[in-house]
Amino acid sequence: MRIDDALVWAQFLLSGSGSPRLDAEVLLAHVLEKETIYLMTWPERDISATDKASFEALVEQRINGVPVAHLTGTREFWSLPLKVNNSTLIPRPDTEILVETALNLCASNAAILDLGTGSGAIILALASELPQATCTAVDFSEDAVSLARENATLLKINNVSIAQSNWFDNVQGTFDVIVSNPPYIADNDHHLKKGDVRFEPLSALVSAENGLADIRLIAEQAIRYLNDNGYLLIEHGFEQGSAVRDIFTSLDYHNINTIKDYGDNDRVTVATYKSIK
Ligand code: GLN
Repeated sequence: MRIDDALVWAQFLLSGSGSPRLDAEVLLAHVLEKETIYLMTWPERDISATDKASFEALVEQRINGVPVAHLTGTREFWSLPLKVNNSTLIPRPDTEILVETALNLCASNAAILDLGTGSGAIILALASELPQATCTAVDFSEDAVSLARENATLLKINNVSIAQSNWFDNVQGTFDVIVSNPPYIADNDHHLKKGDVRFEPLSALVSAENGLADIRLIAEQAIRYLNDNGYLLIEHGFEQGSAVRDIFTSLDYHNINTIKDYGDNDRVTVATYKSIK
């Protein structure tokens, strides 16, 4: 079978996916161990029987909803190819806005903490941009800790230490910037029944109190771990901006600001804390 015919065949079968052409290209390129540009350059090349069988098996799993990132085992975030698996959230493009905002606030030698790091996406992006920074990341899940450490090693990012901790429980020291993309979806949210989220751990997605419980806990506890005039940045749902600002206000944070993502939705709220000690 030719490359272009294989893509047309897969695109047709994947029409329920939302991005059938892209999915087909990414999966075929993965099987052929090439960049997707190769498929455009050599549409008439034949694929081997083995590769065809592998491609068919991936398309079949994709039809059943398995995320493309789980099928290829990788997802790019902030131009870093990250290894992903079903123990963590698949990094989202919208989370890059959190990285961008943090970078605007961080001194080059900042002490940075990432809570609930998952694959390590946020802290590895920050550490790669700020090689002089001291970066710490924690996750409740041992599997996530292993994955984030593996990503740090694969990407040769050395200025980050990753440990197991339920939020701040095993965190020592104080930080100039604390970032988190915590679970923030309400348990009855209908989005949980659709798309990639069905294959991601609920512990990384769902939080009590209509999705706000973990954000509240982080904002409460972060006060003891922030250096004077340090920053807290939390990703949240597109309808949670005002609730998160209220939580921050009630805890005496200052300069509270919500930033929109690339889809123009409220996505990250940032604030400073000045201690009165
Ligand atoms: N933004 C993700 C989604 O809507 C959720 C991420 C999270 O809960 N931290 O699928």
